[in-house]
Amino acid sequence: MLQTTIANTASAEGVGLHTGVFGHIRLVPAPADAGIVFRRVDLDNFAIEAEGHNVARVSYATSLMKQGVLLSTTEHLLAAIYSYGIDNIYIDIDSIEVPILDGSAEPFLQMLEQAGIRKLRRRRRYLKVLRPLEVVEGDRRIGIYPAEEFRVRCYVDFPHPLVGQQEVEMLVSPQTFRHLLARARTFCFERDIEPLRSMGLIRGGSLENAIVLTSDGVMNGPLRFPDEFGRHKALDLIGDLALAGLPLLARVEAHKAGHALHTQLVSRLLADRSLWTVTTGEFAPPEAKIEAPSLAPVAAAD
Ligand SMILES: [Zn+2]
Repeated sequence: MLQTTIANTASAEGVGLHTGVFGHIRLVPAPADAGIVFRRVDLDNFAIEAEGHNVARVSYATSLMKQGVLLSTTEHLLAAIYSYGIDNIYIDIDSIEVPILDGSAEPFLQMLEQAGIRKLRRRRRYLKVLRPLEVVEGDRRIGIYPAEEFRVRCYVDFPHPLVGQQEVEMLVSPQTFRHLLARARTFCFERDIEPLRSMGLIRGGSLENAIVLTSDGVMNGPLRFPDEFGRHKALDLIGDLALAGLPLLARVEAHKAGHALHTQLVSRLLADRSLWTVTTGEFAPPEAKIEAPSLAPVAAAD
């Protein structure tokens, strides 16, 4: 398996969900081993790597910070890049927050599909989890476990007639991400809008970029999936797991978790070198397993 980048550039623009600041992003091909790197083009191309050690405050969105330079709401874009199998990419941005666009990852996935994938002449490196790690806070928990592929299971439980208990379990691939998660939008409860506004959040929020749940229904339907909320939480989870910095070979289970627990898991995982190893492909990836029989030597007619 070779490392990848995108073949061409792709651009988008829009407001940030929390800051309301209008900005532009441009996805740019990057060389092998560059990783996923944001570049603040408004600050002399200041680079912020999408890696666990750059995680800043995390509440209603995941923000990165390096040497005092902040970049907010990275999760939907990172979910698309990570699931699509892009190892190396520059994300040029001229503002403090990634545009929210329609509140899902679909516009970012479309950008990647337009840009296309280019293989690089360097082996892909995976972060392979060797031992389990769990983070628990009250009835919220998240765990990461050894596996030969990247799987997530995400369980949510909100006391609302349209949400309730929802669970998503899947192997993460470009295809499953496109069909199961990419279109699921961010959401908020109507009763939380004023408190969030008074905290200086969701200044760019609107009925065009978030589902708003009223006490017994949805203000701006229809939903894209009956369980759009659980699917969106799984999307958020994958976007935060991208901060591992390499594609994961692991199974992740999140139970009523959120950005804070997701990023804590990534930080603790990266900090404990006994929990994982970096591998370049001695293992058989799922595609190779399927092809294996045809590669087997033909029995000699003896
Ligand atoms: Zn989200």
